[in-house]
Amino acid sequence: MMFDPEKIRALILDMDGVLWRGDEAIGDLPAIFTQIERLGYGVVLATNNATKSIQQFVEKLASFGVRIEPWQVINSAQATAHYLSQQHPTGGPVFIVGEKGLAEILQEKGFYVSDENPLAVIAALDRGLNYEKLRKATLFIRAGVPFIGTNPDRTFPTPEGQVPGAGSVLALLEAASEVAPLVIGKPNPVMYQFALERLGTSPEETLIVGDRLETDIAGSQQLGSPCALVLSGVTNEESAWEWEPAPDLIVADLANVIRELKFLSGKK
Ligand SMILES: [Mg+2]
Repeated sequence: MMFDPEKIRALILDMDGVLWRGDEAIGDLPAIFTQIERLGYGVVLATNNATKSIQQFVEKLASFGVRIEPWQVINSAQATAHYLSQQHPTGGPVFIVGEKGLAEILQEKGFYVSDENPLAVIAALDRGLNYEKLRKATLFIRAGVPFIGTNPDRTFPTPEGQVPGAGSVLALLEAASEVAPLVIGKPNPVMYQFALERLGTSPEETLIVGDRLETDIAGSQQLGSPCALVLSGVTNEESAWEWEPAPDLIVADLANVIRELKFLSGKK
């Protein structure tokens, strides 16, 4: 796939490692977003993190001085609901191993929680996990009900250290059912297709920016979008250059992505 900077009309940005590390902004975010707006690029922020609500991300951006509308933020729970409604446009019963937030997002698409003939077992991080839920989910999956996971992240960081995430719940259910889940979060391009629908752009017109090779970069390459790897997060320069095929851009941080894009596209 050829990267043509002049064609770019929108950006899909990862958040952790691109916009911030923990509670620390990476670069002058208000200046970066002003520049993006001036260059006329649409923006959607896409994260695998389904433990925070859309509103919480909007508020975190606001605390860094950046105004983002709720439609510009998507997480893996929303992408899962989007995927499921493509399969079942009228909704229906689903069995959920997950929290209230996930059930609410699915409800918006006409899905309701039931253990009567569910269309799918949807598994995610569940801080109220119990044996009964795991038992039922395992039996459904063993009986052939499709097994879908929101995101593959096995842990997520807290001030005390790494704690179990959605991927750990999926690993448990996979061990019990002997069925691997279909996981919707990055690197599955479903997440990015959903973002493209919000932006109204094609893959070639959209630059995907992330800090993780096996999720952000692998997902954009599956989709056929150009991608930029930033070295402000979890990936070091050496492993960035080893990745095949190489990301279209490898730069220090988001500010440099915008600078390169401006230069390469010849925009003023
Ligand atoms: Mg990241």
